[in-house]
Amino acid sequence: MRIDLHSHSTASDGQLTPTELMMRAAEKEVDVLALTDHDTLGGLEEAAVAAKNHGVRLINGVEISCLWQALEIHVVGLNITLDHEGLNRLLAEQQSRRESRAHLMAERLEKANFPGAYEGARALAGDAPITRTHMAKWLLSQGAADSIPKVFKKFISRGNTGYAPPNWCSLKEAIAAIQQAGGVAVLAHPTRYDLSNKWVRKMIVAFADAGGDAMEVSMGQQSPQERATLGEWSKEYNLAASVGSDFHFPSPWRELGRQLWLPKEGTPVWTRFI
Ligand code: AMP
Ligand code: MN
Ligand code: MN
Ligand code: MN
Repeated sequence: MRIDLHSHSTASDGQLTPTELMMRAAEKEVDVLALTDHDTLGGLEEAAVAAKNHGVRLINGVEISCLWQALEIHVVGLNITLDHEGLNRLLAEQQSRRESRAHLMAERLEKANFPGAYEGARALAGDAPITRTHMAKWLLSQGAADSIPKVFKKFISRGNTGYAPPNWCSLKEAIAAIQQAGGVAVLAHPTRYDLSNKWVRKMIVAFADAGGDAMEVSMGQQSPQERATLGEWSKEYNLAASVGSDFHFPSPWRELGRQLWLPKEGTPVWTRFI
């Protein structure tokens, strides 16, 4: 069975609509796909219809941005109910924090000679909450740099001119809201925060202490060594193991459901809801 528990659609910063995403999942023979857009459940209704039409099992998910030690850490919620009041309240707060941050970033970018960043990012996001990906795409269109990663590196990463520190919720708040909505809380991509191994472990400990259930062990594009180490850490800290491509757009290097096996150390998180 092919399982992928982390992906994005146009409801946040993904390139495919929820319907297109489900079609692609079917094409790539993914049996179970979680849609986990940033701080929103906005794509899940459409995804449910498409999933049914294309024979994919949809897991309702979300990816919540949190602050821990002044770092932006992402927590994925899997198998949540859509109408839980507490979770929806938290996501509404997160969305309003995204709005404030986008305005703040735009003010800073204006001083760096890029006026109109808020309007530009808003137009690209449509109804979705604005993410830095939208800011980056707009900056790219203005010739700020010649690729999205370079725009991030030069303008909107921590410490850059256009970066504004966000005001996200805590790990504890995100984990509690996910669990109260019947879901499982997963620490997203532990090795993608640019931290030393010592700090990755500290982060995993903090996540487990805050009541987290699982961590991503398999992310597709990673070394065998990384996968094995994450498997061992999941066991050591008593967290279940999750698998997710974090798919945002079609590309040769990242695909739905691709290379998402778990090392033997990992206890699969999906046994809790599949
Ligand atoms: P935000 O949650 O608004 O801070 O936006 C974060 C999103 O930006 C992530 O989910 C990624 O999709 C994207 N992102 C972050 N860093 C990079 C990078 N260096 N290159 C390309 N995309 C990035
Ligand atoms: Mn993203
Ligand atoms: Mn993430
Ligand atoms: Mn993601």
